Amino acid sequence: MKIIDLRSDTVTLPSISMRRAMSEANVGDDVFEGDPTVKALEEKTAALLGHEAALFVPSGTMANQISLRMLTVPGDEILCETGTHIVNYEVAAASALSGIQLTPIEAPNGILTPELIEPRIRPENIHHPNTAVIALENTHNRAGGRVYPMELIPRIKNLAVKYGLKFYLDGARIWNAAAFHKVPLAEIAGQFDALSVCFSKGLGAPVGSAVVSSKALIRKARRIRKMFGGGMRQAGIIAAGALYALDHNLDRISEDHRRAGKLAANIAESGIFEINPHDIETNIVVIKLPPRLNVEEFCGNLASKGTLVVPFGAGKVRAVAHLDISDNDIETASGIIIDTAKSLL
Ligand SMILES: *Cc1c(COP(=O)(O)O)cnc(C)c1O
Repeated sequence: MKIIDLRSDTVTLPSISMRRAMSEANVGDDVFEGDPTVKALEEKTAALLGHEAALFVPSGTMANQISLRMLTVPGDEILCETGTHIVNYEVAAASALSGIQLTPIEAPNGILTPELIEPRIRPENIHHPNTAVIALENTHNRAGGRVYPMELIPRIKNLAVKYGLKFYLDGARIWNAAAFHKVPLAEIAGQFDALSVCFSKGLGAPVGSAVVSSKALIRKARRIRKMFGGGMRQAGIIAAGALYALDHNLDRISEDHRRAGKLAANIAESGIFEINPHDIETNIVVIKLPPRLNVEEFCGNLASKGTLVVPFGAGKVRAVAHLDISDNDIETASGIIIDTAKSLL
């Protein structure tokens, strides 16, 4: 049975040619800043994103946590949206590792606006945490791959400048956001003081993320990476996979969006699920099940037929299109999802 794995865009496997690029990579000790492949990846990433410098790190979580540490001091507060990765999926690392408070703000579809943020910026007062950073997530995972409208980002940036706050982006899927808007990556990324990006999601590399910012902040980030245990030695072996991914898998990312849209359209057509195909902006499809279907039972049944999705909050599952999912897979998975629901209702 062929497994159609729609659980996440992290499940992609390195292709033969990506593995070849990895095995042939020139490497050195990156803690001594002596790995040419890591350097090449960092330079390429910074240039693509319109910043001076980048730092290669093992995971997106570490990229976010190094960044938050780099932009704050203990006792600071970060304003972010309630459903963000830093609030929900990083094991409270910001408080545990950096002594900072995340202040979640609820926003429709996960998209913050200046109007939602401004009242939450605290005036100076001995009792208050010091509001230090506004952090966005683009695309927004838990909101179903939602994209920030381009006009909103400079308006939120103006707010950050007005109040002397740092402006940060969790850009794990910035590739998808730029593809959605058909704009160069730097047009989004260049507006932030710092951002994280993931090579191991839609781009299909096996491992790796980066912190992207100014030269001065990346010098600071390099020390924090060492402190957090993320200094790696011959890391060019994995950086080569990320470089290969930037060279070969970036321009195809809108194909994932088209396929996610097709999955949503097929499922909507069945009339069984509450889903509006127009809500699908990128590669993530959140499917609301009919109330009578149990999420765990539904996922288990799908899995027994070879289609994998993940539970995604009350009454919902998530399916994600990625590099290893074809048009055929989308049709097969749609059929299995619809038939399984019918059989359980
Ligand atoms: C996946 C993801 C991350 C980082 O995840 P890791 O598994 O640590 O690489 C960060 N932010 C968002 C929005 C993500 O989807």
